[in-house]
Amino acid sequence: MSCIFCKIAAGEIPSQKVYEDEAVYAFRDINPVAPVHILIVPKTHIPSVGAINSENSSIVARIFEVIPKIAEAEGLSRGYRVVSNAGEDAGQTVMHLHFHIIGGRKLTIMA
Ligand code: 5GP
Ligand code: ZN
Repeated sequence: MSCIFCKIAAGEIPSQKVYEDEAVYAFRDINPVAPVHILIVPKTHIPSVGAINSENSSIVARIFEVIPKIAEAEGLSRGYRVVSNAGEDAGQTVMHLHFHIIGGRKLTIMA
C-alpha cells in the first residue's frame, strides 16, 4: 500500500500522534494553518468523503465521537472547525479520508 496516511496510521511513517485506537488515528498536520491543526483518519483506506457508504460509514461515526475528545484535550473550548476536502475542486491532496480539526485562534470565513 503506497498511501501515505495508511503508512502514518500504521506507524510506518513518523508523525506527531494525538490519539489512537483500534480504528482511528489522529496526528498533527505537517503544515499547520492554525495553532491547532490535527488530522484524524480511519486506519482502513477510504479515498475520500465521496467513497463513504453504508458499508463503511460506522468509522465516520467513530471519528466524530473522537473529535470532541481531541478538541477538549487541545483546549479548544472557544470553538474549532472540522473540514474534509473531497476531490479536485476542494483541493484534496491526500487520497485517504481525513478530517482537519483546526482551531486555537479566531478563524476566518471559509471558501
Ligand atoms: P488535503 O489538502 O488533502 O485536505 O489535506 C492534506 C493535509 O495533509 C495537508 O494539510 C498537509 O499539510 C498534510 N500532510 C501531507 N503530508 C503529510 C505528512 O507526511 N505528515 C503530516 N503530518 N501531514 C501531512
Ligand atoms: Zn490510505
